[in-house]
Amino acid sequence: SSRHADAASTRPLDILQQVFGYAAFRGQQQAVVDHVTAGGDALVLMPTGGGKSLCYQVPAIARHRAGQGVTLVVSPLIALMHDQVGALDEAGVKSAFLNSTLEGDEARRVERDLMAGNLVLLYAAPERILTPRFLAMLDSLHERGLLSLVAIDEAHCVSQWGHDFREEYLGLSQLHERFPSVPRIALTATADAHTRADIVERLALESAQQFVASFDRPNIRYVIVEKDEPRQQLLRLLRDEHEGDAGIVYCQSRKKVEDTAAWLAGEGLNALPYHAGLDAAVRRQNQDRFLRDEGVVMVATIAFGMGIDKPDVRFVAHLDLPKNIEGYYQETGRAGRDGGPATAWMAYGLADVVNQRRMIDEGEADEEFKRLQRAKLDALLALAEAHDCRRVRLLAYFDEASQPCGNCDNCLHPPAVWDATDAARKALSCIYRFHQQSGFGFGAGHLIDVLRGKVTDKVTQRGHERLSTFGIGADVAEQQWRSVLRQLIALGHVRSVGEFNTLELTDSARAVLRGGVPVLLRVPAEAPPRGRRSNRG
Ligand code: ADP
Ligand code: ZN
Repeated sequence: SSRHADAASTRPLDILQQVFGYAAFRGQQQAVVDHVTAGGDALVLMPTGGGKSLCYQVPAIARHRAGQGVTLVVSPLIALMHDQVGALDEAGVKSAFLNSTLEGDEARRVERDLMAGNLVLLYAAPERILTPRFLAMLDSLHERGLLSLVAIDEAHCVSQWGHDFREEYLGLSQLHERFPSVPRIALTATADAHTRADIVERLALESAQQFVASFDRPNIRYVIVEKDEPRQQLLRLLRDEHEGDAGIVYCQSRKKVEDTAAWLAGEGLNALPYHAGLDAAVRRQNQDRFLRDEGVVMVATIAFGMGIDKPDVRFVAHLDLPKNIEGYYQETGRAGRDGGPATAWMAYGLADVVNQRRMIDEGEADEEFKRLQRAKLDALLALAEAHDCRRVRLLAYFDEASQPCGNCDNCLHPPAVWDATDAARKALSCIYRFHQQSGFGFGAGHLIDVLRGKVTDKVTQRGHERLSTFGIGADVAEQQWRSVLRQLIALGHVRSVGEFNTLELTDSARAVLRGGVPVLLRVPAEAPPRGRRSNRG
């Protein structure tokens, strides 16, 4: 057949090969593309780097060639639209974007192309799409049979339960009400069962076929360590295992981002800060350097990352606990998109658990939402405390069964476990005695001193050396006590309250006190030799 005939082929495989230069579809792509090209609705769950873009780009081209008009792509991110349109342009696919960065003249030119039916794909931000002016253009296209497909990228943004919720996404259901016959494809890289159900409901995708790819990222090695001296622990990771590598270090607060970046720079690392409070120009400059230069360590809040397509990020480190497993999965997923070995490293401690719990408790949300947030946090804590394969746990959270991976800390160095049931009961009864004796509670540090029988000023002041629980836990190391308390808080048997984080028993503590609930914990890793951290202050 002639070149000309090939170029106009509507066969997905021809399009993949001729337009994109790839030999074959990957994983579920073929099934998705066939379904959507034929006019079916689809919900696609694929991990980052899985190849979601082609799932709607190939059908868009096929349908445009068949005279069905333009595919509207809803995308929340300007940077992403820019990259995608640039890449499509290079491949010779006529596409454009409409967002706030376009000048009036440019926007009008795009609109003219759109209305003439010349565009194969149009990327637009949701708030733009829902304007009366834009909807009127869609009406006109639709009347002429030139609105081919609607693709909704980052579909999890529609879920209020997720961490990327965008109000404007809620309005997207209007598109379906307005154009019920136009097929839709929604795509996301993160969705547990609950978020998935939410997406289906809010976007009215009940009859869409779901395509769920494996969420496994086998090249990522998961490592979760107990916080001891987090900065030193991080520095060891960067120096011993990732010298000269590009990576991201996530912190919770803007201040901590700046402090950590400055400290790492002082240690001779090529570290830069990124958070939403920085000047836009500084943010752009730091981001450009991360993308362009070799071996930049970006210290950032979670404001950094979505839509950043850097394939050779070798590590993602968390100095603070994410809110839930979806957040953890999405953030760590930015490592190793090129398929090369990468590390997802997290340090977490008792204070993280206490803080996250408190943020939920003190938040404005209603009780139902708080309950869900707590359950999601608990699932993350269970992952952090796990003594078996991290990957098995992680994938199980996304309803995917798997075998121990051999590429996580627990598989590589199986931790010893101990039966902490007895210790847990001792801690609970000590908290109980505090309240009985003083009428109020104390924090974790003091509790551990009392359990271990340490005579401190506070102990003598309060007369706590006379408590029956004084010294009953001398045989358990301080670090192990912290792990017991973390677990008790995570399991909801103990609550940490007030500005001093005093510990209180909850109703469920009784069952543990009576001994009905076994508690198995990992033995904390050996603390590093003292000499390595003598250079403080
Ligand atoms: P996602 O949006 O799911 O994170 P992308 O669509 O950006 O993933 O694709 C990730 C990378 O994989 C891109 O560089 C893309 O060109 C490449 N890719 C996708 N599908 C294929 C394929 N069938 N063959 C070869 N490379 C592919
Ligand atoms: Zn494993």
